[in-house]
Amino acid sequence: MTATMATILNGNKVAAQIRSEVAEQVRALTAAGRRPGLAVILAGEDHASEIYVRSKIKACQEVGIHSEKITTPASLTTQELLAMVERLNQRDDIDGILVQLPLPPQVDSQQVLLAVDPEKDVDGFHPVNVGKLATQRPTLAPCTPAGVMEILLRNHIAIAGRHAVVVGRSQVVGRPMALLLLNHDATVTICHSKTIGLAEITRQADILIVAVGCAGLVTENWVKPGATVIDVGINRVTDRTKFEDLFAGDAAREKTFAEKGSVVAGDVHPRVAEVAGALTPVPGGVGPLTIAMLMENTVKACRMRRGRR
Ligand code: NAD
Repeated sequence: MTATMATILNGNKVAAQIRSEVAEQVRALTAAGRRPGLAVILAGEDHASEIYVRSKIKACQEVGIHSEKITTPASLTTQELLAMVERLNQRDDIDGILVQLPLPPQVDSQQVLLAVDPEKDVDGFHPVNVGKLATQRPTLAPCTPAGVMEILLRNHIAIAGRHAVVVGRSQVVGRPMALLLLNHDATVTICHSKTIGLAEITRQADILIVAVGCAGLVTENWVKPGATVIDVGINRVTDRTKFEDLFAGDAAREKTFAEKGSVVAGDVHPRVAEVAGALTPVPGGVGPLTIAMLMENTVKACRMRRGRR
C-alpha cells in the first residue's frame, strides 16, 4: 500500500501574500505622510549577519519601507551603541530598530536590547513586549513564531482546543511560540532538552512545532498520523552518514552535497512526510516568514506609535 504523503505547507507562498499586503499598507501610510521606517544596526564584520541584514534591507525596498543600515566598527563600546540606539529612539521617522545579533564580545548585548524603545522593538525581544504577549495585550511578537502562526492560520489549520506540542524553549522561538498558540486557545505542552519521554509527548500532538537545532531529530514514529508538523530548524549537514540517513536517494540534494560539501536540513526527518497530515519543508517553510513578519511588525509599530497622534 502506498502511504499518503503530507500536504506540503509552502512558506514562500504565505510570505509573498504577507509582503504584498504589507506593501499595500505601506503605500497607504506613505500617502498619508507616515512612511514606515526601519533602522538596522550592524556592529562589526560578521559574515552571516551581513547577509541577513542585506536581505532585510532588500525586503524593505521591495515593500516600500524606508530603511537605514547603520554599520559600526567591531571595536565599538557598549556606551557608543547605547547612544546610537537612543538617537534612533528619539527619531519620529524610525518605527523599528533592529540590533543584529551577535554583537561584538565587549558589548553588553542585554543592556543594548533593553535600551531599544519597546514601541520600536520589531524583533519582539524586549521584556515589556514579552510581558504584553504573556498577558494578551497588543504587542510586537517575535517574527519567527509569528510567522508560524501565519502558516497555520492561512492554511486553515484548526488551533483552538487542539493539542500543540512545542519542542524548544528559546526566547526567540519556543517560548513565544507556546504563548501565541495558547493565545489562540490551543492546549499547549512545551518540551526541551531536559524533557523525559519526548517521543511519547510529541506523539500526542495535533500540531507539532520543532525548534531545536538538531537535524532530523523528529522521526516518523514520533508523530501522530495526520498531525500538522512545523519544522523551524535550520541545520547544516556536513557528515556523510547523517546525509545518507536523511536524504539517501534525493538526487537534487545529492548534487548539492557533492558540490558544496553540505546541505541544509530541518529538525524533522523527511520520512515524517509519510505520517503527518501537513508539513513545512526546509528550506521554503518557516524561513521565508521571518523577514515577512519583520516587515509586518515595522508597519504595525508605525501604526501603534504614530497612529495615536
Ligand atoms: P536555541 O539553541 O536557542 O534553543 C534550542 C532549544 O531546543 C532549547 O530550548 C533546548 O532546550 C531545546 N533542545 C535542545 N536539544 C534538545 C533535544 N535533544 N530534545 C528536545 N529539546 C532540545 O535555538 P533557537 O534559536 O530556538 O533555534 C532553534 C532552531 O530553529 C535552529 O535550528 C535555528 O537555526 C532555527 N531557527 C530558524 C529561524 C527561521 O526559520 N527563520 C529562526 C530562528 C531559529
